Amino acid sequence: MQNLSDASVVKDLLSRHGFKFSKALGQNFLINPTVCPRMAEVCGADESTGVIEVGPGFGVLTAELAKKAKKVVSIELDERLLPVLDETLAEFDNVKIINADVLKVDLKKIIEEEFAGMKVAVCANLPYYITSPVIMHLLESRLPIENLTVMVQKEAAQRLCAPVGSREAGAVTVAVDYYSDAKKAFDVSAGSFMPAPKVDSSVIKLDIRKQPPVELKDEKLFFRMVKAVFAQRRKTAANSISAGMSLPKETVYAAIAQAGYAETVRAESFTMEELAVLANAIYNITKQ
Ligand code: SAM
Repeated sequence: MQNLSDASVVKDLLSRHGFKFSKALGQNFLINPTVCPRMAEVCGADESTGVIEVGPGFGVLTAELAKKAKKVVSIELDERLLPVLDETLAEFDNVKIINADVLKVDLKKIIEEEFAGMKVAVCANLPYYITSPVIMHLLESRLPIENLTVMVQKEAAQRLCAPVGSREAGAVTVAVDYYSDAKKAFDVSAGSFMPAPKVDSSVIKLDIRKQPPVELKDEKLFFRMVKAVFAQRRKTAANSISAGMSLPKETVYAAIAQAGYAETVRAESFTMEELAVLANAIYNITKQ
Protein backbone atom coordinates (compact mmCIF):
# COMPACT_ATOMS: atom_id res chain seq x y z
CA MET A 1 0.00 0.00 0.00
CA GLN A 2 1.22 3.52 -0.80
CA ASN A 3 2.15 5.68 2.17
CA LEU A 4 -0.29 8.55 1.65
CA SER A 5 1.26 10.52 4.53
CA ASP A 6 4.52 10.73 2.64
CA ALA A 7 4.81 14.10 0.87
CA SER A 8 6.77 12.55 -2.03
CA VAL A 9 4.02 9.94 -2.60
CA VAL A 10 1.42 12.72 -2.61
CA LYS A 11 3.53 14.76 -5.07
CA ASP A 12 3.87 11.71 -7.33
CA LEU A 13 0.07 11.21 -7.29
CA LEU A 14 -0.45 14.90 -8.05
CA SER A 15 1.84 14.80 -11.06
CA ARG A 16 0.72 11.41 -12.47
CA HIS A 17 -2.98 12.36 -12.20
CA GLY A 18 -2.41 16.01 -13.20
CA PHE A 19 -4.29 17.00 -10.05
CA LYS A 20 -4.27 20.57 -8.74
CA PHE A 21 -5.60 21.39 -5.24
CA SER A 22 -8.83 23.37 -5.23
CA LYS A 23 -8.83 26.12 -2.62
CA ALA A 24 -12.56 26.61 -3.14
CA LEU A 25 -13.21 22.99 -2.09
CA GLY A 26 -11.02 23.31 1.02
CA GLN A 27 -8.45 20.81 -0.25
CA ASN A 28 -5.70 20.64 2.37
CA PHE A 29 -4.62 17.00 2.55
CA LEU A 30 -3.12 15.41 5.66
CA ILE A 31 0.52 14.39 5.41
CA ASN A 32 1.28 13.90 9.13
CA PRO A 33 1.39 10.10 9.63
CA THR A 34 0.21 10.20 13.26
CA VAL A 35 -3.04 12.10 12.73
CA CYS A 36 -5.25 9.65 10.77
CA PRO A 37 -4.62 6.61 13.02
CA ARG A 38 -5.46 8.81 16.01
CA MET A 39 -8.67 10.05 14.40
CA ALA A 40 -9.73 6.49 13.57
CA GLU A 41 -9.03 5.53 17.19
CA VAL A 42 -10.97 8.50 18.63
CA CYS A 43 -14.07 7.77 16.51
CA GLY A 44 -14.16 4.23 17.87
CA ALA A 45 -14.01 2.48 14.50
CA ASP A 46 -13.95 -1.30 15.00
CA GLU A 47 -15.16 -4.45 13.26
CA SER A 48 -18.78 -3.71 14.18
CA THR A 49 -18.72 -0.07 13.01
CA GLY A 50 -19.73 1.56 9.75
CA VAL A 51 -18.04 4.91 9.17
CA ILE A 52 -19.21 7.79 7.00
CA GLU A 53 -16.35 9.97 5.83
CA VAL A 54 -16.81 13.40 4.28
CA GLY A 55 -14.22 14.37 1.67
CA PRO A 56 -11.67 11.53 1.35
CA GLY A 57 -9.24 13.58 -0.77
CA PHE A 58 -6.49 11.10 -1.73
CA GLY A 59 -7.84 8.61 0.85
CA VAL A 60 -5.29 8.98 3.65
CA LEU A 61 -7.89 8.91 6.45
CA THR A 62 -10.17 6.56 4.49
CA ALA A 63 -7.43 3.91 4.49
CA GLU A 64 -6.93 4.15 8.28
CA LEU A 65 -10.68 3.90 8.83
CA ALA A 66 -10.93 0.93 6.43
CA LYS A 67 -8.26 -0.94 8.42
CA LYS A 68 -10.33 -0.71 11.60
CA ALA A 69 -14.00 -0.42 10.59
CA LYS A 70 -16.31 -3.01 9.06
CA LYS A 71 -17.21 -0.64 6.26
CA VAL A 72 -16.45 2.93 5.17
CA VAL A 73 -18.65 5.06 2.93
CA SER A 74 -16.85 8.19 1.77
CA ILE A 75 -18.65 11.10 0.17
CA GLU A 76 -16.49 13.20 -2.16
CA LEU A 77 -17.73 16.14 -4.22
CA ASP A 78 -14.71 16.50 -6.52
CA GLU A 79 -15.01 13.92 -9.32
CA ARG A 80 -11.35 14.51 -10.33
CA LEU A 81 -10.45 12.53 -7.18
CA LEU A 82 -12.29 9.36 -8.23
CA PRO A 83 -9.49 7.87 -10.39
CA VAL A 84 -6.95 8.71 -7.68
CA LEU A 85 -9.05 6.97 -5.02
CA ASP A 86 -9.48 3.94 -7.32
CA GLU A 87 -5.71 3.62 -7.19
CA THR A 88 -4.96 4.51 -3.56
CA LEU A 89 -7.76 2.42 -2.01
CA ALA A 90 -7.53 -0.52 -4.44
CA GLU A 91 -6.63 -3.00 -1.71
CA PHE A 92 -9.74 -2.33 0.43
CA ASP A 93 -12.97 -4.15 -0.37
CA ASN A 94 -14.86 -2.47 2.48
CA VAL A 95 -14.77 1.09 1.08
CA LYS A 96 -17.43 2.70 -1.08
CA ILE A 97 -16.95 6.14 -2.61
CA ILE A 98 -20.01 8.22 -3.40
CA ASN A 99 -19.47 11.20 -5.71
CA ALA A 100 -21.85 13.76 -4.17
CA ASP A 101 -22.21 16.89 -2.09
CA VAL A 102 -22.51 15.88 1.57
CA LEU A 103 -25.08 18.65 2.10
CA LYS A 104 -27.37 17.21 -0.60
CA VAL A 105 -27.00 13.46 -0.27
CA ASP A 106 -29.59 11.36 1.61
CA LEU A 107 -27.47 10.18 4.56
CA LYS A 108 -30.35 8.37 6.27
CA LYS A 109 -30.81 6.20 3.19
CA ILE A 110 -27.06 5.55 2.94
CA ILE A 111 -26.96 4.42 6.58
CA GLU A 112 -29.98 2.13 6.10
CA GLU A 113 -28.62 0.60 2.90
CA GLU A 114 -24.93 0.33 3.76
CA PHE A 115 -24.68 -0.12 7.52
CA ALA A 116 -27.48 -2.53 8.52
CA GLY A 117 -26.76 -3.95 11.98
CA MET A 118 -23.68 -1.76 12.53
CA LYS A 119 -22.91 1.09 14.92
CA VAL A 120 -22.35 4.18 12.83
CA ALA A 121 -19.84 7.01 13.26
CA VAL A 122 -18.83 9.98 11.15
CA CYS A 123 -15.12 10.75 10.80
CA ALA A 124 -13.74 13.51 8.59
CA ASN A 125 -11.14 16.13 7.93
CA LEU A 126 -13.80 18.67 6.99
CA PRO A 127 -13.48 21.19 4.17
CA TYR A 128 -13.16 24.40 6.20
CA TYR A 129 -15.42 26.52 4.02
CA ILE A 130 -18.46 24.53 5.18
CA THR A 131 -17.50 23.31 8.67
CA SER A 132 -20.52 24.61 10.55
CA PRO A 133 -23.10 23.87 7.81
CA VAL A 134 -21.87 20.25 7.57
CA ILE A 135 -21.84 19.73 11.35
CA MET A 136 -25.29 21.30 11.73
CA HIS A 137 -26.65 19.31 8.78
CA LEU A 138 -25.38 16.06 10.31
CA LEU A 139 -26.77 16.92 13.76
CA GLU A 140 -30.13 18.25 12.60
CA SER A 141 -30.73 15.24 10.36
CA ARG A 142 -30.95 13.20 13.60
CA LEU A 143 -29.03 10.34 12.04
CA PRO A 144 -28.66 7.11 14.00
CA ILE A 145 -24.98 7.78 14.71
CA GLU A 146 -22.82 7.49 17.81
CA ASN A 147 -20.41 10.34 17.24
CA LEU A 148 -18.91 12.85 14.82
CA THR A 149 -15.12 12.99 14.98
CA VAL A 150 -14.05 15.90 12.84
CA MET A 151 -11.04 18.06 12.11
CA VAL A 152 -11.87 21.75 12.08
CA GLN A 153 -9.90 24.99 12.36
CA LYS A 154 -8.68 25.55 15.91
CA GLU A 155 -10.77 28.67 16.36
CA ALA A 156 -13.90 26.85 15.20
CA ALA A 157 -13.09 24.02 17.62
CA GLN A 158 -12.92 26.49 20.50
CA ARG A 159 -16.29 27.94 19.59
CA LEU A 160 -17.95 24.57 19.01
CA CYS A 161 -16.69 23.06 22.29
CA ALA A 162 -17.10 26.20 24.48
CA PRO A 163 -19.45 25.94 27.46
CA VAL A 164 -22.84 27.51 26.67
CA GLY A 165 -22.88 30.93 28.38
CA SER A 166 -19.14 31.53 28.02
CA ARG A 167 -17.64 34.38 26.00
CA GLU A 168 -16.52 32.05 23.18
CA ALA A 169 -20.00 30.55 22.78
CA GLY A 170 -22.31 31.47 19.90
CA ALA A 171 -25.57 30.21 18.43
CA VAL A 172 -23.74 27.25 16.87
CA THR A 173 -22.33 26.30 20.32
CA VAL A 174 -25.86 26.11 21.74
CA ALA A 175 -27.02 24.00 18.80
CA VAL A 176 -24.05 21.64 19.07
CA ASP A 177 -24.56 21.28 22.83
CA TYR A 178 -28.26 20.57 22.33
CA TYR A 179 -27.54 17.59 20.10
CA SER A 180 -24.20 16.39 21.44
CA ASP A 181 -21.51 16.42 24.09
CA ALA A 182 -18.59 18.12 22.32
CA LYS A 183 -14.96 17.79 23.39
CA LYS A 184 -11.62 18.61 21.86
CA ALA A 185 -9.56 15.46 21.23
CA PHE A 186 -6.21 16.88 20.05
CA ASP A 187 -4.55 19.74 18.15
CA VAL A 188 -2.98 19.44 14.70
CA SER A 189 -0.40 21.92 13.42
CA ALA A 190 -0.81 23.70 10.07
CA GLY A 191 2.36 21.96 8.82
CA SER A 192 0.53 18.60 8.94
CA PHE A 193 -1.25 19.46 5.68
CA MET A 194 -0.37 19.88 2.03
CA PRO A 195 -0.76 22.67 1.12
CA ALA A 196 -0.36 24.09 4.66
CA PRO A 197 -3.28 26.30 5.68
CA LYS A 198 -2.68 29.59 7.52
CA VAL A 199 -4.00 28.33 10.86
CA ASP A 200 -3.74 25.28 13.11
CA SER A 201 -6.55 22.75 13.46
CA SER A 202 -8.10 20.57 16.14
CA VAL A 203 -9.89 17.25 16.09
CA ILE A 204 -13.11 17.38 18.07
CA LYS A 205 -15.46 14.59 19.06
CA LEU A 206 -19.20 15.16 19.30
CA ASP A 207 -20.88 12.31 21.16
CA ILE A 208 -24.51 12.34 20.06
CA ARG A 209 -26.94 12.68 22.98
CA LYS A 210 -29.66 10.07 23.30
CA GLN A 211 -31.89 12.71 24.94
CA PRO A 212 -31.78 16.51 24.56
CA PRO A 213 -30.39 18.24 27.69
CA VAL A 214 -33.51 20.43 28.09
CA GLU A 215 -37.23 20.07 27.45
CA LEU A 216 -38.49 22.44 24.78
CA LYS A 217 -42.07 23.24 23.87
CA ASP A 218 -41.01 24.20 20.34
CA GLU A 219 -37.53 23.37 19.04
CA LYS A 220 -37.78 25.67 16.00
CA LEU A 221 -38.80 28.60 18.18
CA PHE A 222 -35.92 27.87 20.56
CA PHE A 223 -33.34 27.99 17.76
CA ARG A 224 -34.90 31.15 16.26
CA MET A 225 -34.59 32.77 19.68
CA VAL A 226 -30.99 31.61 20.13
CA LYS A 227 -30.07 33.01 16.70
CA ALA A 228 -31.70 36.33 17.61
CA VAL A 229 -29.83 36.50 20.94
CA PHE A 230 -26.41 35.89 19.38
CA ALA A 231 -27.02 38.04 16.30
CA GLN A 232 -27.05 41.09 18.61
CA ARG A 233 -25.31 39.74 21.68
CA ARG A 234 -24.53 43.10 23.31
CA LYS A 235 -28.20 44.11 23.37
CA THR A 236 -30.67 43.22 26.09
CA ALA A 237 -32.64 40.02 25.53
CA ALA A 238 -35.78 42.11 25.00
CA ASN A 239 -34.19 44.12 22.18
CA SER A 240 -32.34 41.31 20.41
CA ILE A 241 -35.25 38.86 20.58
CA SER A 242 -37.85 41.41 19.56
CA ALA A 243 -35.72 42.43 16.53
CA GLY A 244 -34.60 38.92 15.56
CA MET A 245 -37.98 37.21 15.96
CA SER A 246 -40.11 40.17 14.77
CA LEU A 247 -42.08 40.18 18.03
CA PRO A 248 -43.53 43.26 19.79
CA LYS A 249 -41.33 44.37 22.70
CA GLU A 250 -44.28 44.01 25.13
CA THR A 251 -44.63 40.35 24.18
CA VAL A 252 -40.95 39.70 24.87
CA TYR A 253 -41.10 41.66 28.15
CA ALA A 254 -44.06 39.53 29.21
CA ALA A 255 -42.13 36.34 28.41
CA ILE A 256 -39.05 37.58 30.27
CA ALA A 257 -41.22 38.34 33.31
CA GLN A 258 -42.92 34.94 33.10
CA ALA A 259 -39.49 33.28 32.96
CA GLY A 260 -38.56 35.19 36.12
CA TYR A 261 -35.75 37.34 34.68
CA ALA A 262 -35.13 41.09 34.98
CA GLU A 263 -36.38 43.31 32.14
CA THR A 264 -32.83 44.37 31.26
CA VAL A 265 -31.34 40.86 31.25
CA ARG A 266 -28.87 39.87 28.51
CA ALA A 267 -29.23 36.31 27.29
CA GLU A 268 -25.85 35.65 25.67
CA SER A 269 -24.45 34.45 29.00
CA PHE A 270 -27.45 32.23 29.77
CA THR A 271 -26.98 28.52 30.38
CA MET A 272 -28.81 26.02 28.18
CA GLU A 273 -31.44 25.63 30.92
CA GLU A 274 -31.98 29.41 31.20
CA LEU A 275 -32.31 29.74 27.41
CA ALA A 276 -34.86 26.91 27.42
CA VAL A 277 -36.92 28.56 30.17
CA LEU A 278 -37.04 31.81 28.18
CA ALA A 279 -37.93 30.09 24.89
CA ASN A 280 -40.70 28.11 26.61
CA ALA A 281 -42.06 31.36 28.10
CA ILE A 282 -42.10 32.96 24.62
CA TYR A 283 -43.96 29.88 23.38
CA ASN A 284 -46.51 30.16 26.23
CA ILE A 285 -47.18 33.81 25.44
CA THR A 286 -47.22 33.66 21.65
CA LYS A 287 -48.74 30.26 20.91
CA GLN A 288 -51.41 29.81 23.56
N1 SAM B 1 -9.62 13.52 3.89
C1 SAM B 1 -8.57 14.13 3.12
C2 SAM B 1 -7.35 14.36 3.99
O1 SAM B 1 -7.51 14.41 5.21
O2 SAM B 1 -6.26 14.51 3.44
C3 SAM B 1 -9.04 15.44 2.46
C4 SAM B 1 -9.59 16.49 3.38
S1 SAM B 1 -9.83 18.05 2.62
C5 SAM B 1 -9.67 19.10 4.05
C6 SAM B 1 -11.58 18.15 2.34
C7 SAM B 1 -12.15 17.23 1.27
O3 SAM B 1 -13.57 17.47 1.18
C8 SAM B 1 -11.63 17.45 -0.13
O4 SAM B 1 -11.32 16.20 -0.70
C9 SAM B 1 -12.77 18.13 -0.89
O5 SAM B 1 -12.77 17.87 -2.28
C10 SAM B 1 -13.97 17.52 -0.18
N2 SAM B 1 -15.22 18.33 -0.24
C11 SAM B 1 -15.33 19.68 -0.31
N3 SAM B 1 -16.61 20.05 -0.30
C12 SAM B 1 -17.35 18.90 -0.22
C13 SAM B 1 -18.75 18.64 -0.17
N4 SAM B 1 -19.65 19.63 -0.19
N5 SAM B 1 -19.16 17.35 -0.09
C14 SAM B 1 -18.25 16.33 -0.06
N6 SAM B 1 -16.92 16.53 -0.11
C15 SAM B 1 -16.47 17.80 -0.17
